[in-house]
Amino acid sequence: MRITYACPACATTATCDRVEDLATLVCPRCGATLELPVGAVVRGPAAGSGAPGVRLRRCLVCPSGELFVRKDFPQRLGVAIVVAGFAASCVTWGWGMLLPTFAILFATALVDVVLYFFMPECLTCYRCAARYRGDGVSDDFEGFDLQTHEKHRQLAARTREHAAGRPAGQPMERTPSA
Ligand SMILES: [Zn+2]
Ligand SMILES: [Zn+2]
Repeated sequence: MRITYACPACATTATCDRVEDLATLVCPRCGATLELPVGAVVRGPAAGSGAPGVRLRRCLVCPSGELFVRKDFPQRLGVAIVVAGFAASCVTWGWGMLLPTFAILFATALVDVVLYFFMPECLTCYRCAARYRGDGVSDDFEGFDLQTHEKHRQLAARTREHAAGRPAGQPMERTPSA
């Protein structure tokens, strides 16, 4: 299983392979170590198959148990295909070639659908946005839920406000004894 996460110390995006075999994550930039929570990865056959494997139960970074599953589809690629197909169909339309125009539009949609269908799934943490790919990405988790996302967004905003509102090392209201 591969993890892509933002280092909590320096916010660098780091990627690490075979994370299920590790006890700690080390940031490649600042060297900060992150202890992986016990029990976050369970070993055992995946649901519905007898093959041995690993399953992620909670985020290894934050460690929230709320993650969502989605297709690991590069959105830019999807958009690029649609734009290219649209541009090509505009050219054929301009030349008055009706059949090729519709053929191009249909092929563009088909390529997008087929690509989406064959793309593997990945898990993303609502709280810290760490992403998991490969072995251990199980379907124990639901798809993206806006309410859960909003809950974590507000929680993060409150945490930031809280941190900003209380200056470090507040002066003590006490007169020095004579
Ligand atoms: Zn770091
Ligand atoms: Zn997380």
